[in-house]
Amino acid sequence: MSGSDPGRASGAARRPGGAPAVGVLALQGDFALHARALERLETPCRHVRTAADLDGLAGLILPGGESTAMLKLMEGTGLEGALREFHVAGGALFGTCAGLILLAREVTGPEQRALGLLDTTVVRNGFGRQVDSFETDLAWTEDHVPVRGVFIRAPRIDRVGTGVRVLATFGGEPVLVREGRVLAATFHPELTEDTRLHRYFLEEVVGAGRPAGAGGEPPSREPSPA
Ligand code: GLN
Repeated sequence: MSGSDPGRASGAARRPGGAPAVGVLALQGDFALHARALERLETPCRHVRTAADLDGLAGLILPGGESTAMLKLMEGTGLEGALREFHVAGGALFGTCAGLILLAREVTGPEQRALGLLDTTVVRNGFGRQVDSFETDLAWTEDHVPVRGVFIRAPRIDRVGTGVRVLATFGGEPVLVREGRVLAATFHPELTEDTRLHRYFLEEVVGAGRPAGAGGEPPSREPSPA
């Protein structure tokens, strides 16, 4: 196990206060900004680069970046299988942009393999290329105050399965969705100072599950902090 990995958080998977430990997939992309958002919410964060790094985590954020590059970096590491096992074992997942592409059931534009943990069909760069990046306020179901959506070469969600709840739309299309323990956004909440989406993930998605992996942590039944 990689106790010497500088990205690993020291200590147990749970802080004494009971907050679950969350990881950020740190192969490529803007994982550091997600880690900062979690820090601001006083949540211990571990950089995840190997299957062993998932041990004892309750949740994992898959950041924006290049999904093709991330898939390449996962090759031969066992991380893809470990991520599926993490999900089956009760781990919560939050994918933003490229992270959403990794989580999808099916990816087009062009086709590429994906983890299949979120029942969606996703079109890469579906909102256009870099030059078409844009920002907009998005109404969402969890708060009357909109969230700022920063879209960068964003994927489009073309199809959602019946088990997928749409939490926000743009132009009538889903841009923030949840299927059980999997939350995903086509935009980049980590690029704003607003931590409400990260808080929602921690309190409502991670909080609803239980720690996964070989850490052997007992199921969490603690109420979410207000
Ligand atoms: N277009 C990128 C991809 O296909 C995602 C862009 C992003 O994460 N900002 O992976």
